[in-house]
Amino acid sequence: PTQQERFSFQAEVVQLLDLMIHSLYSNKEIFLRELISNASDAIDRLRFAQLTEPGLDEDEEELRIHVAFDKDARTITITDNGIGMSRQEVMDNIGTIAKSGTREFFQALTGDQRKDATLIGQFGVGFYSSFIVADRVTLTTRRAGLSAEEGVRWESDGRGEYALETVERPRRGTELVLHLREGEDDLLNHHRLLTIIQKYSDHISLPIVMPQDGGDEAGEDTVVNRGSALWARPKSEIGDADYNEFYKHVAHDFADPLAHLHSKMEGTYEYTLLLFIPATAPFDLWMPEARHGVKLHVQRVFIMDDTGQLMPNYLRFVRGVIDSADLPLNVSREILQSSRVVDNIRSSAVKKVLRLLKDLAEKEPEKYARFWREFGDVLKEGVAEDFSNRDEIAKLLRFTTTKSATDEPDTSLSDYVARMKEGQDKIYYLIAPTPAAAKSSPHLEIFRKKGIEVLLLGQAIDNWLVTSLPDFEGKRLQSVAQGVSDLGAMEDEAEKEAGEKAGTELSGLIERVKKALGDKVADVRTTNRLTTSPACIVADEPDLELNLMRRMQGSGM
Ligand code: ADP
Ligand code: MG
Repeated sequence: PTQQERFSFQAEVVQLLDLMIHSLYSNKEIFLRELISNASDAIDRLRFAQLTEPGLDEDEEELRIHVAFDKDARTITITDNGIGMSRQEVMDNIGTIAKSGTREFFQALTGDQRKDATLIGQFGVGFYSSFIVADRVTLTTRRAGLSAEEGVRWESDGRGEYALETVERPRRGTELVLHLREGEDDLLNHHRLLTIIQKYSDHISLPIVMPQDGGDEAGEDTVVNRGSALWARPKSEIGDADYNEFYKHVAHDFADPLAHLHSKMEGTYEYTLLLFIPATAPFDLWMPEARHGVKLHVQRVFIMDDTGQLMPNYLRFVRGVIDSADLPLNVSREILQSSRVVDNIRSSAVKKVLRLLKDLAEKEPEKYARFWREFGDVLKEGVAEDFSNRDEIAKLLRFTTTKSATDEPDTSLSDYVARMKEGQDKIYYLIAPTPAAAKSSPHLEIFRKKGIEVLLLGQAIDNWLVTSLPDFEGKRLQSVAQGVSDLGAMEDEAEKEAGEKAGTELSGLIERVKKALGDKVADVRTTNRLTTSPACIVADEPDLELNLMRRMQGSGM
C-alpha cells in the first residue's frame, strides 16, 4: 500500500452532493437502486470486454452482485465482480462530473427543493446518492486485467475532499462500504433491504445475492431477485412497475417514462425490442455529443451502446434495449455499420417507434402534447433525415396556427387540411422569429380577413422543415411571405377588379417609389392582401425566404 493522497472534489460535485442529500432524502432508498445499477453496468461491461480482450476471465466465479450489512459496524456493503476501475478511472468517474449538460444543469437549478429534485433526477443521481444515507463511503476496486497490487481505495465523507490510496486487492471488481449516518439504522435489516431490492432492482438480469440471514456472513447466500432479463420474459408477467424501474436503470433517469413498446420479432431475423419514450428531455439532447439511448444486446448479453446504428439521430431520445438472436457475440462497431441484420432491425424499430407515437397522439393526446413539447423539435429533423418515413413523421408534427387558442402547438397537418376553406389548395405558413412577431405580421392580414388558417413557425429548425416538406397529402406548403399572394379560387371577382383598378390609379405613386428604392428592390406593386398596413416586403418566389435570409445574415431582426 502506498501513502494516502487527498484530493478536492470538483466544485460542482460539492454543490450536487449538498443538493442531493437535501432534496432526495424523502426518497432515500433509491441509493440502493443506483448502486446496484452501477454494479450491473460494470458486470455488463466486463462481459463485453471478455469477448474481445484476452486474459480478463481470471476466475470462474459466477457474475453477481452481493449486498450485505453489518449491524455492529453500521455498514451496508455492495460488491460486484464486474470490470472494476483503475486509479485513473476512479479519479475520472468518482469525484468529477464529466457529463455533457453539466453547465446547463447547474444553470437550471432554482433553489426550490421540489423542482430541483426533479432536475437532479433528470441529470442522473448515480453514485453520489450513497451520501444520502452515508456520512462516509469507502470504495475499493480493481480493474479487470490489472494485477492484485493495483487495487485502489477511495474514501470520502462527501464534504469536499476524498482520499485515494493504492491497495492490494486480489479480486477484480468493486466493493462499496456505506457507513450509515446517525438515525439510518432502519436500513440494517434484512427484510428492509430485500424489499428495496425487489421494488427497484428485480429486473436486473444478474443475480443479486444476500447472505441468508442478512448480516450473518456465515449464512449461505441466496438470490433475492428474479435475475432474468426483463425483456425476455413474457409480457403477461411484466407489470408497469417492472417496466418503469427497468427504464430508470437503462435510461439513468429518475422519473417514469412516458410510454414504452415491447415486442418480440420472429421473421427472417429474431430480436426483441424494449423501447421507451422518456417523459422529459435529457440535458444533452441538443449537444453534438448527446448519448444515444439504446443498448444493443446479443442473446441477453450487453454488447454496446448505440452510436447511431440502431436509432437515427432524430430518435436519439429513445431509450431501451434491442436484443438480437442473429448477431455474433463478438460483433464490432465496424460489423454493425454494414450488417444486414442491423439494417433490418433498425428500420423496423424506427417504424415501431413512429407507430407508438401515432398511437399516443390518437389515444392519449395529453401525453402526446407533453412528448411534443419535450421532443417535437428533434422529431422535426426526421422530415429531412428519413425520406422513407417522411409521410409518417409529417403526420406527427404539431403546429401553432392563427386559430390556436394559445401558443401551444396543437394542430396537426391533417387537422389543418380538414379545416381548409373551400377552394383552398395550399397549406399556408408564416416563419417569424417569435410568436408575437408572427401574430402582428402584415402578411397575415388578408388571411385573417378571409378566415384562412396559417401555420405559425418560429423554431430555427422550421426553415429546414418546410424546405424538406414541399407538400402534405398533395397540398403544397406555401409561405405567406413569398411571391405573389395567389389565393387562386378564393379570390373573388370584385377583389380582382379592385386590385387591378388600384394598380392603374396608383401607377404614379408606384413609379416614384420604384425610383426612390432603385435596385434595392426587384419590383414594387399594389396588393390587396393588406387590410390595415400600408405596405409590406415580400420575397421573390424562387428566392430564399426573407426570414431565412435575415437569420443567415445573423441580423436577427
Ligand atoms: P452513471 O452510472 O450514470 O454513469 P454514476 O454516478 O452512477 O453515473 O457512476 C459514475 C461512473 O462511475 C460510472 O459511469 C462508472 O464509470 C463508474 N462506476 C460507478 N460504480 C461502478 C462500479 N461498481 N464498477 C465500475 N465502475 C463504476
Ligand atoms: Mg449509475
